[in-house]
Amino acid sequence: MAKLIVTSPEGRKSERELEGTLIVGRAQDCSLRLASDTKASRNHCKIEKRGSEYALSDMGSANGTRLNGEKIGQRIEVLKDGDVVVVGGTKLEFVDGSGGAAAPAAPGAAAASPGGGLLGKVKGALGGLFSRGGGSGGEGGGEGAGGAVFGDKTITCPCGAVLSTAAKSPGQKVGCPRCKKIYAVPGK
Ligand SMILES: [Zn+2]
Repeated sequence: MAKLIVTSPEGRKSERELEGTLIVGRAQDCSLRLASDTKASRNHCKIEKRGSEYALSDMGSANGTRLNGEKIGQRIEVLKDGDVVVVGGTKLEFVDGSGGAAAPAAPGAAAASPGGGLLGKVKGALGGLFSRGGGSGGEGGGEGAGGAVFGDKTITCPCGAVLSTAAKSPGQKVGCPRCKKIYAVPGK
């Protein structure tokens, strides 16, 4: 359901659901009555329901009707979500409730994409870790984690010691028995 968030000249906020045609002004028979707004005309403007849209038009007011800061003059403007209509000293913010159903799908999809990207990066890093440990055997001194070589079930320390990781779980710390360096067991 579309609605208007009405801010009075004194700064009081209220909400008004839109149903059918809304006449805005100071006159007693207006459906949205701005009794205390001295800059508003008796019949200032109207917001008319046309199918699923709401059309704003000025009713010959003395001070005009503004849409997003611009006077609409004699034009008929179809309101969009977030549009701000100013009548005298009163602000009317249009909120289109009908578009709400489609909106949550987009941020959700957008959020999934960076997540996948992050996962890809982690997998890439792990892949690099394995490929480095795989083929290089004993060489590879001076690069990576202090020159250690991460194999499938072993970590070869630059000091020459070979640590078995066969009984360890990924992320567990193993210490070199010779030089006391600490390594984290890579993920499978
Ligand atoms: Zn060592």
